[in-house]
Amino acid sequence: MTEQIVDKIKHGYRLGRKDNLNFLLEDNLESLCEGANELRRYFKGNQAGLCTIINGRSGKCSEDCKFCAQSHCHSTGIDIYGFLDPKEISDDCGKQKEKGVHRYSIVTAGRSLTGKDFEKALAAYKKISDEYQMHLCASHGLLTSEQFQRLYDSGVRHYHCNLETSKAFFPKICTTHTWKEKVENIQRAKAAGLKICSGGIMGMGESWEDRLDMAVSLSELQVDSIPLNMLMPIQGTPLQDRKQLCEEEILRIIAIFRFINPEADIRLAAGRLLMEHSGRRAFLSGANAALTGDMLTTSGNNTKQDIEMLKEIGYTI
Ligand code: SF4
Repeated sequence: MTEQIVDKIKHGYRLGRKDNLNFLLEDNLESLCEGANELRRYFKGNQAGLCTIINGRSGKCSEDCKFCAQSHCHSTGIDIYGFLDPKEISDDCGKQKEKGVHRYSIVTAGRSLTGKDFEKALAAYKKISDEYQMHLCASHGLLTSEQFQRLYDSGVRHYHCNLETSKAFFPKICTTHTWKEKVENIQRAKAAGLKICSGGIMGMGESWEDRLDMAVSLSELQVDSIPLNMLMPIQGTPLQDRKQLCEEEILRIIAIFRFINPEADIRLAAGRLLMEHSGRRAFLSGANAALTGDMLTTSGNNTKQDIEMLKEIGYTI
């Protein structure tokens, strides 16, 4: 079954709502991962993408996302600070470039980024564009069409806005903004010429059907990159006691997203530490990209070790 579908996808067929997707939940994990790896090789080759983020403004967010340490609703003891100095950001970008990272993103807490903080972000992107040949991504919540255009004009080429989960499960995770607002935000960003990085978080209590649904929604939105985070429960958030996903569940999730989004970058983000050897098996089960270094509020992976591991299993960086 899996082999036949891999072949169909290679010949242009795309899985969607019309299809019975149960095979993705029921097929033997090993053959599913092998199929996903074949699709990854066919559509993406052996080149792995590494990106890194900086938390440009931290904490005191007006929104109530249940997984997030930065919401004003939760007491998590994280660092709280306003928008960083653009020079500090561009110096950090230079250091990341020396380590071998080729995509850099400023991420800011908050429903959106406006006023002086937005101007500082534009100044930081311009400074980075002038000083380093780094691919730039931005993540600043819900923005207007004009703001997206200004980001583009400052050198940004990708916009990050996670759907987080399925449309049906989203209201159980966040009540201060809607899934529809996120979709509309993504559409505005696309209209400004930006490529889209959008994924979500697994292990928040969603069902396997929610995961399939989210994978199909991302395919319908034709996103370019799908960051997959595995929940690392944070003390002080409403999800602090959720059980962490095991490696088998994580591998099946990654394979599912590759089958449904064969041409996208499937990017491992938070939670890679839940897998052995920094997620080595995941890169042979459909993933072809990763967030390296620290995450926003959880520890991440060492870039040098990531590069060594990826080269060992046949990737070029
Ligand atoms: S995920 Fe973003 S919008 Fe939601 S609480 Fe955290 S910083 Fe705010």
